[in-house]
Amino acid sequence: MLPEAVLLQAQQEMLDWQGTGMSVMELGHRGEAFQRVAAETESDLRDILAVPAHYKLLFLAGGASTQFAMVPLNLLANNSAADYIDTGIWSKKAIGEARRYGDVNIASQRVTRDGWAAIPPQAEWSLNPKAAYVHYTANETIEGIAFPYIPTTGDVPLVVDMTSSILSAPLDVSRFGIIYAGAQKNLGQAGITLVIVREDLIRDPLPFTPTLFSYKVEAENHSFYNTPPTYAWYMMGLVAKWVKREGGLAEFAKRTQRKSTKLYSYIDSNADFYRNTVHPTYRSCINIPFNLVNEALTETFLIEAAAAGLTNLKGHKLAGGIRASMYNAMPEAGVDALVTFMQAFALKYG
Ligand SMILES: *Cc1c(COP(=O)(O)O)cnc(C)c1O
Repeated sequence: MLPEAVLLQAQQEMLDWQGTGMSVMELGHRGEAFQRVAAETESDLRDILAVPAHYKLLFLAGGASTQFAMVPLNLLANNSAADYIDTGIWSKKAIGEARRYGDVNIASQRVTRDGWAAIPPQAEWSLNPKAAYVHYTANETIEGIAFPYIPTTGDVPLVVDMTSSILSAPLDVSRFGIIYAGAQKNLGQAGITLVIVREDLIRDPLPFTPTLFSYKVEAENHSFYNTPPTYAWYMMGLVAKWVKREGGLAEFAKRTQRKSTKLYSYIDSNADFYRNTVHPTYRSCINIPFNLVNEALTETFLIEAAAAGLTNLKGHKLAGGIRASMYNAMPEAGVDALVTFMQAFALKYG
């Protein structure tokens, strides 16, 4: 979901961006006009996320999945081993990709304790102090399980996939070596990925790394080694300005808390009908998966919800059930409408 204000602005500027007589997608990427779009997007994001000066922002074609390969290709250079925390499907995909290039140690894994899905506390992890980096997924979008803290890894750089949680709360960027996020969840549209990388980690990648997969090449060329996804970059810029206008990350953290608390409270107080099995400490406040206790009703739930204007509620194909996502563009009224629908549905079929 994108903010309506952003879509309207894109619509208004579609045929003529700021008097150029051209759409942003027609601007030459090296021309002064697009360079301005690019620079403003970067400075707005730096501002919102309070990015320290010794971090570079890269705007790269491809998805978060592209980073599953770029991270090991660029960081394993002097060391063939990396630590990964496996909390779900996206972690597993990152792990699978890293295994192509080096040794992966699964330092910890999601567990089920007393019927709840949970992330073992850091004291129980087996971190390798010589690892090239530690990788984790801040918010598992499909299972709705999230880290309520930033892991501590000492001198070992911490790498995070923040695709579904970036811009949902203030962030201490200085705790990380690399933060990456595909744009299509909370930053804009598909096709571009934001990578925030600490300068000392920008170095020669493994020798067989494709040119475009090198952070060094991309950083030296300010993400203009080849034609970047210009329109997606522009859309990210519009989203960044919208986030600023709305009050920044502290404001979105409040909204996200309010929205998710509402839905979880409703689910938990109707446990004979709806169920979420993630331990409250590790629940995502962005992606909220739940099941109907009578799973045979899932399809009916989705059909009747769609008829009520509530769409995109089908759980990921690997997880099933229902999933409600509370990205920044989702207004609180959307959550209210969902809860109202869930109440009526439970009455009708309960
Ligand atoms: C959606 C998602 C991805 C995959 O993103 P692509 O841009 O499709 O590659 C990776 N990680 C997380 C946490 C996601 O939510």
